[in-house]
Amino acid sequence: MIPKIAIVGRANVGKSTLFNRLLGANKALTSPIPGTTRDRAEGDCFWNGTVARVIDTGGVNMKAIDPFDRDIREQAELAINECDLVLFLVDIKVGINPDDRMIAKRLRQSKKPIILVGNKADTPALRRAAEAGEWKALGLGAPFAIAAHQGQAVGDLLEDVWKKLKKAKRPPVPVSEVATTRVMVIGTPNVGKSTLLNAIVGQKRFITSPVAHTTREPNDTLIEVPMKEGGTKRYIFVDTAGIRKMAGVKKRGGMELAGVMKTLKLLPHVDVAILVLDVLGEIGNQEKKIIELLSESNTATLIVANKWDLVPHKTTTTQNEYLRHVAGKIPFFAYAPIIFTSAMTGQHVQKVLDMVDHVQNERYKQIDEDTLTEFLHRMIKKHLPSRHKGVSHPVILKFHQTAVAPPVFALTIKGKRADVLHPSYLRFLENQLREEFGFDGTPIRMRSRTELRKT
Ligand code: GDP
Repeated sequence: MIPKIAIVGRANVGKSTLFNRLLGANKALTSPIPGTTRDRAEGDCFWNGTVARVIDTGGVNMKAIDPFDRDIREQAELAINECDLVLFLVDIKVGINPDDRMIAKRLRQSKKPIILVGNKADTPALRRAAEAGEWKALGLGAPFAIAAHQGQAVGDLLEDVWKKLKKAKRPPVPVSEVATTRVMVIGTPNVGKSTLLNAIVGQKRFITSPVAHTTREPNDTLIEVPMKEGGTKRYIFVDTAGIRKMAGVKKRGGMELAGVMKTLKLLPHVDVAILVLDVLGEIGNQEKKIIELLSESNTATLIVANKWDLVPHKTTTTQNEYLRHVAGKIPFFAYAPIIFTSAMTGQHVQKVLDMVDHVQNERYKQIDEDTLTEFLHRMIKKHLPSRHKGVSHPVILKFHQTAVAPPVFALTIKGKRADVLHPSYLRFLENQLREEFGFDGTPIRMRSRTELRKT
């Protein structure tokens, strides 16, 4: 199901370097797919909340002098048969080589989407050389110039690859369909956590099992949901034993929060938190404390407003009134989507896992640098960066995304101090980012740094 990208090219053009780059594009964060990250020749590349598999055809012995060496042909065949897109790598420094011509000919016959990639374009002069007519002789247009070793333009290349893959038969697969999503149900006692969990776990079409025997996580429950296209989506519900134990035990006061706090310690191991609120209950100090910790964590959150069946005299505006009520109580938490459920009757319980998928994919979303640069220019026109400390007016030199899960954005400020920019400007940018690109349910981190300190 996962689309495949083959890296093809003659010896020494930098195939493995590019392979490692593509797999390491998100190395700020470890891959959410345990154990499948990479073997010698295959690995998963994450981009913008979706996954594609990369095949490095560089492992073959290319030392033979014969340009029609069998291995070269085999590489091309592999690309033709198996993959959805070919990255055909050439060396800009060396120029066209007979092997390049031969590979190009075979690839052209394949009718597969091909991106000609000119590697080792380390300098502006070499990048210009990629534009030169010479390369067009391969019949694949001008090469996309990159420098795989330094990572130069690799993000732009990925953007191009993804555009082409989306048009191909197998588009990149959302992270939530490939990786196991770790979920935690959280909330104060009696809001219906245990009932909700049972309603989700109890759905007949799912396969569930306690993740016992793994010793480390005996309290977790694994849920496998069959997908239409085949395969299953996997979720691990963390600390389910803890939730069940608390159910029915009507505890009061400080002890309640202690139990919740213990669960919250697991947050670093959780992708998505489901915060359950009693729709008729108050959003009190305990809820506010939980929400504060959630917003400071790396975990995405969705709010389930439960016991919807108990709300009397519902009208078409009741949900909106509740949304406004929540927004008034916890304004900084507006990024968490809200679903109204009745865990008891099962109403809207199915939507919960769909929303878990959605926020998990949003958490892995990535915006490329060109788009962010254009975004920043528009924002600066709308609202000039406001001054905080120091004498100079803040000048923003660069704005880019440095990590996913959660998304991290870095602003590079001209000069020696990053604090010339008023913190409210970071909040403004965050709000605008959410407005334009979504990032539903996920926290976003904004960092400002100076041009002198590269982090
Ligand atoms: P927990 O402490 O958060 O795990 O809460 P429980 O799941 O034990 O639920 C507390 C009480 O609320 C139980 O009596 C449930 O039957 C009831 N309850 C849970 N969900 C709903 C719901 O959607 N509607 C109604 N009417 N009652 C619910």
